[in-house]
Amino acid sequence: MLALRTSPPSFGIAEGERIARDLYGLAVSVSALPGERDCNFRLRTADAREFVLKVQGVATDAESTDCLVSVLDHLAEQDPTLAVPRLFPTLRGDAVGRFNRDAIDYATCLVSFLPGQLMTTSSPSMGLLQGTGSILARLDRALQGFFHPSLTRRLAWDVRRIPELAEFCGYIAPGELREGVEQVCGALRACLPRLRGLRSQAIHGDCHAANLLVDTDAQSISGIIDFGDMIHAPLIFEPAVAMSELLTEAVAPLASVAAVLHGFAQGQAVQANEVELLYDIITARHAVTLLVHAWRRHHDLSGARVLDQAAVHSGRSLQQLLNADRGALTCTWHEAAGTSATAASAPARSAGHADLARRHRLMGAGAELFYERPLHLVRGSGVWLYDPQGRAYLDVYNNVPHVGHTHPTVVAAIQKQTAILATHTRYLHENILEYAEQLTARLPAHLNACIFVNSGSEANDVAWRMAQMATGHQGGLVMDTAYHGITDAVAALTPGVGRPHDPRVVMLKAPPAGVRIGDELSAAQQAAATQDADRAIAELRKRGFAPAAFYIDSGLTSSGIFDPPAAWAVAVTARVRAAGSLVVADEVQYGLGRPGSHFWGFERRGLEPDIVTLGKPVANGYPMGVVVANRALIEAFQAKFGFFSTFGGNAVAAAAGLAVLKVLDDEKLMANALSVGAYLIAQLEAVAARHECLGQVRGTGLLLGLEVRGRDLPTAQRHTKRIINALAAEFRILIGYEGPHADILKLRPPMPFRREHADLLVQAIDAAATAVDSDGA
Ligand code: PMP
Repeated sequence: MLALRTSPPSFGIAEGERIARDLYGLAVSVSALPGERDCNFRLRTADAREFVLKVQGVATDAESTDCLVSVLDHLAEQDPTLAVPRLFPTLRGDAVGRFNRDAIDYATCLVSFLPGQLMTTSSPSMGLLQGTGSILARLDRALQGFFHPSLTRRLAWDVRRIPELAEFCGYIAPGELREGVEQVCGALRACLPRLRGLRSQAIHGDCHAANLLVDTDAQSISGIIDFGDMIHAPLIFEPAVAMSELLTEAVAPLASVAAVLHGFAQGQAVQANEVELLYDIITARHAVTLLVHAWRRHHDLSGARVLDQAAVHSGRSLQQLLNADRGALTCTWHEAAGTSATAASAPARSAGHADLARRHRLMGAGAELFYERPLHLVRGSGVWLYDPQGRAYLDVYNNVPHVGHTHPTVVAAIQKQTAILATHTRYLHENILEYAEQLTARLPAHLNACIFVNSGSEANDVAWRMAQMATGHQGGLVMDTAYHGITDAVAALTPGVGRPHDPRVVMLKAPPAGVRIGDELSAAQQAAATQDADRAIAELRKRGFAPAAFYIDSGLTSSGIFDPPAAWAVAVTARVRAAGSLVVADEVQYGLGRPGSHFWGFERRGLEPDIVTLGKPVANGYPMGVVVANRALIEAFQAKFGFFSTFGGNAVAAAAGLAVLKVLDDEKLMANALSVGAYLIAQLEAVAARHECLGQVRGTGLLLGLEVRGRDLPTAQRHTKRIINALAAEFRILIGYEGPHADILKLRPPMPFRREHADLLVQAIDAAATAVDSDGA
């Protein structure tokens, strides 16, 4: 791809003088100018006229040379007073000069040398930044009618090439923001359809501070140079590149670059949908710099050196952008551009006390709310949630937005399908079949058919009816304080908060907290698991029931988040099956790659379920639940009861489900869960070791628990609530609690949770735990 490798032709000063004389009839003194792909000379005549001579290899750059002379001609015609280089012909009157050295053909062009100093040397005022935007708008007005075939060439600096560059992420060391770059690449990839829909034209495309000249008192732009990276692209790329480059060159701070957009909008009306994508374009340009630099470090060392400084600044500035509040930035940019924020970024009406009263009145005072100070959230993006003031909250709690809040691929899939057709499964439709195919392909062969519903509860309800039908039994076995949902039947399988004393349901003890998946289960522990299952089965029998189903949330979430070795589940399920029960793996919490090591939680547990139930994450927030079982079981159930769910498996839900699977693969989110989960466990263990109030770190992947301790249980519970509320109120990090004793911090973020997010979380927990330790109250 063009511009990955730097390969300027190399000519000495004497050669420069000779070319100037032979082709242009100029007697000049010559000095070298830097260039990525051309050899450039500054020429000065005895009468103090100055020029730039560009030499390019014909084999590699014939089209670029042609494009350059065409565009300079075009600009001279369209805007004769615009401060851009002007073209001078050769002695023979040609726009392009030609010569041959050592059997290689070269092309030259001679342009005026513009006065002024590079903007890199100044610390620009707001007026100068605005002036930058204005001149870019003027330039782009003049460029409107210009086209040249080489504007569509594959140029690494064009952020739309990110899908091709993303494979070089591996060249970036993890400590050098690799995850951040991967995140940006994923986000840009998801934006491509929207970028393709923007108005586009020829743009300069590379207005960084070394291509902008300022006058002597640095108050106004005196010229724009270097048209070698021109592309045909969305117009908004022009100010976006300038804003991005001024940031990465540390010429302007983040708070000031909006002035460039403001200036641009004065000369070219900017559109709201362009502003909505600015953050993605700007962060992507940073990512490109880091990727090109990383690639060059492996393939073109001298080319890498040119970018060393830019890469350092890009890393710093990208980190700043990733930590920044995207919503607030976008609102600022809307203001600068004179556009209105769309629903996605507009701050909403604030929820004050009145809204709480209104809620109580309309929903009942018992409608659950998180946090001492309830949060009003109006927007989400990736792992971030935003309140009406535009403040960002790091979401370390929600697994429904599995691939990230408002993931553009999922949003687009829902929007597209809902605009075409939204019907149910009583008609043929390819979406649901495609989804069922893709889902069952990821499951063991015997789990080969699906029933579609709208929630985890419904999925478990259907599974319960199926299990009772298949076994002729009516009892249920569940884990300690399990949660499986809200229907009448499933509330009975939810002894923690549902129906505590249903005679048909008995709880099994949680696995031993100390054992982790890699540990050997001791003979005593194995015997305890077996005995406990026997006890529960005997207890059911005493009450007149045999077990129809053993339900297990594969993350053992409500039981306290455990990650026992497979031998534990093997011991339990052997007994359960011997009693005639089916095994239902409830993947509502843990499925779809969250364990990191496996796509399904039951695989990690060593379970071989008869039925798998899915909910929350499958459609990223669009309601969908799935029951997956063997076709024979499903057909027997259909034959006996018939089954239809109006919304279950509708074409829109299926489109959302397909999009989730695609994003999981495209963005390698399971691998991310594995690496970030492991990193987070290590960091949390280090923090826990420093604090009296923190204990065991539990779980794996991106479902983790952190035990909170106190001198007694009520103290531990108080500490837990205090840490959670402090994180939300002081650090704007959202977590929850879990477990039979409500003393486990629950960490279950959307899957694009990266190391830098883990760092923010760990620092906050560290600080909150320090406060708890210091007064111990
Ligand atoms: N099973 C498990 C393990 C769950 O965590 C939940 C929801 N918390 C459910 C089932 C019920 O899902 P829903 O709320 O979609 O009905």
